[in-house]
Amino acid sequence: MSENSGAGILYIVATPIGNLGDLSPRAKDVLMSVDVIAAEDTRHTSRLLSHFGIKRPLLACHDYNERGRSEQIVQRLQDGESVALVSDAGTPLISDPGYHLVNAVREAGLKVVPVPGACAMVAALSVSGLPSDRFFFEGFLPAKGSGRRKRMAELVDFAHTWIVYESPHRIVDMLDDMAQELGVDRHVVLARELTKTFETVLSGTVVELQDILANDENQRRGEFVVLVRGAEKPELGSGDIPEEVLRTLSVLVEELPMKQASQIAAKLTGVKSKVLYKAGLAMKDA
Ligand code: SAM
Repeated sequence: MSENSGAGILYIVATPIGNLGDLSPRAKDVLMSVDVIAAEDTRHTSRLLSHFGIKRPLLACHDYNERGRSEQIVQRLQDGESVALVSDAGTPLISDPGYHLVNAVREAGLKVVPVPGACAMVAALSVSGLPSDRFFFEGFLPAKGSGRRKRMAELVDFAHTWIVYESPHRIVDMLDDMAQELGVDRHVVLARELTKTFETVLSGTVVELQDILANDENQRRGEFVVLVRGAEKPELGSGDIPEEVLRTLSVLVEELPMKQASQIAAKLTGVKSKVLYKAGLAMKDA
């Protein structure tokens, strides 16, 4: 559907996750200029706005009223008003309300504009030292132990970095569940209180982190992003390489030098390039 000219714009505005210096000048301009700001918690947002001297009307838009609010906001946009959506911290829609609103506004053929900024999981990934070329964001794991362990069991063999949000009162239990489901040697990074005074990034095996948290209650406080290194692929012998991997390799070997072919095939399939190099040589000899 084409976007409706004359109608207002919905801006999705990221706000700081701790350090107020992270509100971008553009975010500030947009918040100052819109007709209304839809906020997850109006009291929380009014404190942020008053810090920046922004005086705009607020409208509550949270998990419990978002669908009804979406209709009202679509109407206001159609009447030519502009609206900004903010959450309590970081980027709206990322483990925060906003999905139904954005969907409704786009379905109505109206314009949605991002005003990017802080996001805890991106900030955490960027400093974690874990592979960041591919990753999976889980959001919050189930709050109950049984549901949490079941979900971890589903993720245990996932080959890339995965990321969860966790609250301070569950962090210790979550590490205990990780020890059980992923093993005590899995490499995990805990990014705590990012951009705030007590910002800490701890990196180690599950058992090392359990130990640090058990001995230092400060390390159990605050907001956490938990990043888990993807599962190691078992090293394959050339006889164990799956058929589809060999097919990919054989196409590449036809076109490229062996070293490059095996490196590209390794990137595509996750099988070690050393193993593929040997298999490629065997193909040539056959
Ligand atoms: N929309 C937000 C974003 O863009 O990151 C996330 C909202 S979610 C309801 C809140 C969770 O994000 C917290 O429980 C914590 O896991 C994580 N989080 C938020 N701020 C953080 C910070 N400063 N340091 C570490 N984690 C943070």
